[in-house]
Amino acid sequence: MLKPKLIVDGKRLDGRAFDELRPIKIEADVLKRADGSCYIEMGKNKVLAAVYGPRELHPRHLQDPSKAIIRYRYNMAAFSVEERRRPGPDRRSIEISKVSKEVFEAVIMKELFPRSAIDIFVEVLQADAGSRAAGINAASVALIDAGIPVKGIVTSVAVAKVDGQLVLDPMKEEDYYGEADLPIAFLIRNGKIESITLLQMDGRMTKDEIKRVIELAKKGVMEIYRLQRDAIMRKFMVEEDEG
Ligand code: ADP
Repeated sequence: MLKPKLIVDGKRLDGRAFDELRPIKIEADVLKRADGSCYIEMGKNKVLAAVYGPRELHPRHLQDPSKAIIRYRYNMAAFSVEERRRPGPDRRSIEISKVSKEVFEAVIMKELFPRSAIDIFVEVLQADAGSRAAGINAASVALIDAGIPVKGIVTSVAVAKVDGQLVLDPMKEEDYYGEADLPIAFLIRNGKIESITLLQMDGRMTKDEIKRVIELAKKGVMEIYRLQRDAIMRKFMVEEDEG
């Protein structure tokens, strides 16, 4: 198919400015059976995260006597994309699960829970580019909802290059037809960006563009972070009211 024009009259196809996120909704504690959970919408992405643990890890030979084992499963529902996806893990979801697991290994205080497992499940109900970022954002809230000690909130977004222009939080057309796509996650502690916990890229960008991408992503994640924090606050305030 011919590549459509992605920027028309200085605006993106969905009318957004270059540095504008898609609308975001975040709700914590949406699943009763999980220890922690979160539902997020980032544009057309709809993603659920469920956290179980810390709980004793079986079989026992997998246990680590010095810390908890973190497991992360990113899964796309068969109905999450236009063409029905074959259910089950594929190369892409195995890769996303691995890099996302590494994000949370750096953030969870896992030394507090020897011989345990902490399981993070991310189910993508509807995907529209940026689903790994949405999964990480939901998982971070779900971990806090589960009461698991963490070093801070992890917040993720992608930046793309489309028609030579850097744009925040690309949707599917921008991801598909763009020249480059760079998902990134930051650890945010006491309202300040502390470190980068995930950085991936496909396509091509100059060194200067990468610097600008990181600045654009920082602006985006601070907005998402405030919504994650609000979702956590809302949950605890409701509990207080009910009590
Ligand atoms: P992310 O969702 O994190 O941006 P990708 O860049 O790999 O991850 O994928 C971009 C988008 O492409 C997905 O969000 C989804 O909309 C679409 N996509 C990914 N895998 C498939 C698939 N197997 N079939 C159809 N569409 C897919």
